[in-house]
Amino acid sequence: MSCALCDREKLLASGKYPYLIHEFENSWWLLGEHQYYAGYSVLLLKGHAREMTELSAQRSTAVFAELLKAHKTIEAAFKPHKMNLCSLGNVVDHVHWHLFPRYADDPKRENPPWLQMQEFATKNITVSQALPTIARLKSFLE
Ligand SMILES: [Zn+2]
Repeated sequence: MSCALCDREKLLASGKYPYLIHEFENSWWLLGEHQYYAGYSVLLLKGHAREMTELSAQRSTAVFAELLKAHKTIEAAFKPHKMNLCSLGNVVDHVHWHLFPRYADDPKRENPPWLQMQEFATKNITVSQALPTIARLKSFLE
């Protein structure tokens, strides 16, 4: 059975995925291929698991620490009004977290980000457009 995110991991391991922000011990932190919300990114678990509960207590704690590190870095770099973190996996059941920075000037900021998902592709970015954002996030990563 194939998994799109396991395939993504193979690309990451080969060094050929251009949207990588940072490789943590247990996860990969990737810039979103759209920037509908500036700084939107995804934390992808290393190795296939369907649920966080499949991980050992030690490993799930480590993944949460990496998630918080990415969260804090986005806050420092982009100063959002609020962060929305979502782990769904209904389309691809490989644990991953969406990190959506939400901004004070967004008139729809009280809505879940998914209500705008039809518009996400209007803010797709090229690799060259991604590089300054990746560099900015890296510079704030502690
Ligand atoms: Zn997978």
